[in-house]
Amino acid sequence: PAPTLRKHSIATIGADGIGPEVIDAGVQVLRKLASLDGTFKLDFEEFDWSSETYKKTGQYIPDGGLEQLQKHDAILFGAVGAPDVPDHISLWNLRLAICQPFQQYANVRPTKIFRGTESPLRKANPGDLDWVIVRENTEGEYAGQGGRSHRGQPWEIATEVSIFTRHSVERLIRFAFETARKRPRKFLTVVTKSNAQRNGMVMWDEIAAEVSKDFDDVKWDKMLVDAMTCRMVLDPKSLDTIVATNLHADILSDLAAALAGSIGIAPTSNFDPTRKNPSMFEPIHGSAFDIAGKGVANPVATFWTASEMLIWLGEDEAAKKLMESVEAVTERGVRTRDLGGSAGTKEVTEAVCAELEVIY
Ligand code: ATP
Ligand code: MG
Repeated sequence: PAPTLRKHSIATIGADGIGPEVIDAGVQVLRKLASLDGTFKLDFEEFDWSSETYKKTGQYIPDGGLEQLQKHDAILFGAVGAPDVPDHISLWNLRLAICQPFQQYANVRPTKIFRGTESPLRKANPGDLDWVIVRENTEGEYAGQGGRSHRGQPWEIATEVSIFTRHSVERLIRFAFETARKRPRKFLTVVTKSNAQRNGMVMWDEIAAEVSKDFDDVKWDKMLVDAMTCRMVLDPKSLDTIVATNLHADILSDLAAALAGSIGIAPTSNFDPTRKNPSMFEPIHGSAFDIAGKGVANPVATFWTASEMLIWLGEDEAAKKLMESVEAVTERGVRTRDLGGSAGTKEVTEAVCAELEVIY
């Protein structure tokens, strides 16, 4: 009997600025990959939700939109944010409006220095920095709790309350240990600020110690977030998998992206580890309106994003080949301007497709 073709259906949401450009590039490379591989099939459905549709209709996600997304195995997301819509509106009404109902509680951000690219750290070479940051994605400092009183008065007070629940912290730290376990070094660093914040952060430390008992094969240590920034810069080789709160990991992952050389490289996965809902995969960069429509956006972050998505869908071999092709292309010097090259989005995309032909 003919071998059955594994099928995966992908929802794509390019959204704003360079989002649609890099998603188009990602879909082109994924189609190429699936046809060369021949053992799996990818179906794409495009959703044209963006700040443009919001300005016309008052909605980012139309009625019934989440139910449509729910039918897919994964979501490939571009970037949201437009100059004439406040960030907190676009973010909460599109990205978080998907992350929260779909319980994508683990936000995972790998970073490394690609061959052919340079870190701003003088002594760091490709291979010296290879991290995965696991970020809490549903609560913490971004829970949206708090309020303001006496607006505009000199005695105005604003509170921004962090929410940490044992349920969410435990499942996240467990996920981080599992992530660390799958990597060669099996090493996790738990980041908190438990010397200064004595409730939520102390609970994080306690839960980490409890969960670690189920992972005898994973080594782990603890860092305060301030000391962690120094360690990332001064001793990048000493780190592997890192877990932190919503706010702390947000900041640490921007630092990580900068240390790896460009924001145009790195991906983010928003996982619902229970697999009840589709997980969402996106480049970490934003909509970059300064370069939108010019054909110069770096598609590499989206290619790495596509590779992470393939791993989640069980296509590890194809994911690996995609990354090998991408790195071969950057090494050969086919790079966009953010990586010091002069190639455009299309050139890089075509070079990756050509490299895939060679690898397969
Ligand atoms: P957001 O608030 O959505 O994070 P932002 O404006 O803060 O958006 P980005 O949109 O990521 O941040 O842009 C930051 C800078 O990085 C810009 O100068 C942009 O041109 C550049 N940049 C971002 N993504 C890319 C990319 N894929 N290729 C090349 N340059 C990029
Ligand atoms: Mg930004």
